[in-house]
Amino acid sequence: MKKILQDLSFSELENLISAFGEKPFRAKQLYTGLMRGKKISQINVPAELRARLLEEYEDEPVKIIKTLTSADGTEKYLFALSDGNVIEGVLMKYKYGNTQCVSTQVGCRMGCKFCASTLGGLARNLSSGEILSQILVVNALHGGSLEKRSVTNAVLMGSGEPLDNYYNVISFLKNVSAPSGIGISARNISLSTCGIVPSIYALADEQIPVNLTISLHQTTDEGRARTMPIAKKYTIAEILKACEYYFDKTGRRYIFEYSLISGENCDGQHAEELIKLLKGKPCHVNLIRLNEVKERDLKTVTEKEAYRFLGLLEKGGLSATLRRQIGVDIGGACGQLRASYLNK
Ligand code: SAH
Repeated sequence: MKKILQDLSFSELENLISAFGEKPFRAKQLYTGLMRGKKISQINVPAELRARLLEEYEDEPVKIIKTLTSADGTEKYLFALSDGNVIEGVLMKYKYGNTQCVSTQVGCRMGCKFCASTLGGLARNLSSGEILSQILVVNALHGGSLEKRSVTNAVLMGSGEPLDNYYNVISFLKNVSAPSGIGISARNISLSTCGIVPSIYALADEQIPVNLTISLHQTTDEGRARTMPIAKKYTIAEILKACEYYFDKTGRRYIFEYSLISGENCDGQHAEELIKLLKGKPCHVNLIRLNEVKERDLKTVTEKEAYRFLGLLEKGGLSATLRRQIGVDIGGACGQLRASYLNK
């Protein structure tokens, strides 16, 4: 596999171009082209420079090979990487803008029982440029520019555990928010983690104002360990302490994802326990009805059951919402499209 030019920040690209003996304005031309989602071979720079770059760098590190469109407008993409691996992403359309869900790894090694992304384990980490390119190509697909973006928000909720690919994810967050590039501010990006505690502290110290989202899904360590192996390593109490540190450092409220699984985590007792854990904390709870994955035997709840659980949390004083389910008809949940592609 060749190197990935989109891994570089603007100043790193400037250094490369000057090491090539090229005029400095070529760096700006190249950078603008790349951030507009163009291939190296499509960017208007002298042919010799393009040829020299193409000897070392991938022309198109992330390529859309399939698009599925839901009746509700949600789009799901299958992307091919230069080494033949595939990853997936989703674009969700809201009134305030378009949120893209991006992958941070090929597969995942966290082993959560309800998730399709982890079925085949981890293949490899994505580089920062491969994470960024998912957004660049989708922005371009929808006619977005750097001045008027088609992708306005992002969530790191595709395949992979972002904090298991820490350095590349941090570098991605810096590059995606750079004002001279696509310029999606970290405030418009949510990073979701299953709860790798030391990396939550490290992230807080980076001073990147990304929205921190924790996949909680259970109210006790024992319950959590049944579906999320990471719970054997870090307790809920340790996660909550790390979240407090995150809030102290960044001033940003944190979010808990709670996927409702029938018979597992959503009766009255769970609501009480959740209220006890979270009441008074600067946080929000996002309830999601489990997206059933065919390889797994966990069952989702009815809409009525989900609203009942939401009501209990609200009555107990928590800030909570039930996520509207979108893109269900196109396999919207993590890893479903890639899994079905790999099965074929
Ligand atoms: N690894 C990260 C981010 C990827 S998953 C994390 O664990 O947070 C994004 C969210 O979707 C997580 O909250 C995850 O637990 C949840 N999720 C995964 N599979 C799901 C499914 N089948 N139904 C509902 N939520 C699911």
